[in-house]
Amino acid sequence: MNKKIMINQNRCSACGDCQEVCPQKILKIRRVSSDEKQEMTLFQRINCFYHKNNRLEVIDPIKCLGCGLCIKACRHEAIFLEDFKQLEKIF
Ligand code: SF4
Ligand code: SF4
Repeated sequence: MNKKIMINQNRCSACGDCQEVCPQKILKIRRVSSDEKQEMTLFQRINCFYHKNNRLEVIDPIKCLGCGLCIKACRHEAIFLEDFKQLEKIF
């Protein structure tokens, strides 16, 4: 697959709806450590605190099928598939 699943942490509410529908079980809500919080923007730290220090993570992106079920499940438009070619232009 030439797309990569990405999370917009500024929009994500860590609700876990996408985690429930992913057939590959590669989406995981987990607790954020204090070290990780240091690397976040102020907005992300506040967002994280508001969501009980939980955060969504893609644990094994290579296993993503690109099925889009997580995107359909998300009410906040916080998860999306990005074209690798677009990513190459960014990084
Ligand atoms: S696109 Fe499909 S396989 Fe990939 S993370 Fe979303 S639900 Fe899982
Ligand atoms: S990406 Fe969307 S569905 Fe998944 S945890 Fe974040 S807000 Fe919930």
